[in-house]
Amino acid sequence: MTDRSADTALLDAARTLDAADPLAAHLDAFVEAPGVTAYLDGNSLGRPLRDVPEKLAAFVREDWGTRLIRSWDEQWMALPMELGDRIGAITLGAGPGQTVVSDSTSVLLYKLMRGALRQAQGPRGAAQGPAGRTELVIEEGNFPTDRFLAEGVAAEMGATLRWITPDPVHGVTVDDVAAVVSERTALVSLSHVDYRSGALADMPAITAVAHDAGALMLWDLCHSAGVVPMQLDDWGVDMAVGCTYKYLNGGPGSPAFAYLRHDLQGLLRQPIQGWWSAADIFAMGPEYVPADGIRQLLSGTPPVTSMLAMQSMIDLIEQSGIDGVRAKSESLTALAVRAYDELLAPLDVRLLSPRDPARRGGHITIGHPDFREVTRRLWADGVIPDFRFPDGIRLGLSPLSTSHAETVAGVLAVRDALESGVS
Ligand SMILES: *Cc1c(COP(=O)(O)O)cnc(C)c1O
Repeated sequence: MTDRSADTALLDAARTLDAADPLAAHLDAFVEAPGVTAYLDGNSLGRPLRDVPEKLAAFVREDWGTRLIRSWDEQWMALPMELGDRIGAITLGAGPGQTVVSDSTSVLLYKLMRGALRQAQGPRGAAQGPAGRTELVIEEGNFPTDRFLAEGVAAEMGATLRWITPDPVHGVTVDDVAAVVSERTALVSLSHVDYRSGALADMPAITAVAHDAGALMLWDLCHSAGVVPMQLDDWGVDMAVGCTYKYLNGGPGSPAFAYLRHDLQGLLRQPIQGWWSAADIFAMGPEYVPADGIRQLLSGTPPVTSMLAMQSMIDLIEQSGIDGVRAKSESLTALAVRAYDELLAPLDVRLLSPRDPARRGGHITIGHPDFREVTRRLWADGVIPDFRFPDGIRLGLSPLSTSHAETVAGVLAVRDALESGVS
């Protein structure tokens, strides 16, 4: 019964693709993890670059240890904006002065959602606001923090949530959004790439539908920043947030980024108006005046130490080109789907991601009732995918750190664990 010819063909195909991969040399740019044969979770926690340990040590020795507080003036004050500009230019299609690195994705979502609702409702709140827009559109499959924050902000602002129920595999469509927006919509808040299925939303078309209804559009880019190219400026996006510890490899808890387009910077007021968002940080004056520029989205002292590791990955993405990263990403997920078809579909595993590479981001998800136990066993064996409740395994294929061979090895390991019987 054990005909392994499909295994051999898949491993050969993977080797051929790796040999032709123009980005293959970068696989060595990451810190080695002894005992790990397939790391398929780079979309949850990207791997550190090899130069990060020395970069951190040099930072402690020199920038902090020797330059001491002078480093604030010399480099750290500007870092949230400088890094934001680099993320904007290299991964987001955003011109300078519109992206800033700060806080966590959750906190930035709160700042922007609340700022947008307040803007749409007018300064005196929902009841008397001139625009009278009181609805926030969100979808049921969005990441929990996005949904929880929307609920909290809606309660705080007297707004109403309008829920979209999208197809769980193919994600939110333009029609789904068109069906719920109206003259009451203040804000539409969606994820670009669905954290479960990997479905890629049509950002330009959905943004246009929100705008046609007179609403603002907020995109969560956690699962697309650094892997799916986008053009926030050209597509007229109003606001966006994203993580830096996923495909930007900033390390656990590295701060998030926010994008706020130029012409909203004077209009939208974020609610956590700490001193770092003030026009003159060191005026220490009696009253608060917000900064003109993107610094208005900051609140308190930025986490400089946590902004070091991501710089190596941003450099590497710049060197590779985001379009090249995307091409490899499509190649990796296509091979994973082929391996699924050949090895896992016969074992009643479900494919929970779109089949068309153009319609998905950098990961695919598969489902089977035994996957919780399978994941436990794979982790113990050094094959590391992501388990997603209730019975999904997510294969996150971060293009710069993942090979085709590693991808096939991961699917083979899932097959072997299922076949050997988990219980
Ligand atoms: C990972 C992720 C988050 C995480 O938010 P944190 O504040 O960094 O914990 C939020 N939204 C989406 C869509 C994510 O994928």
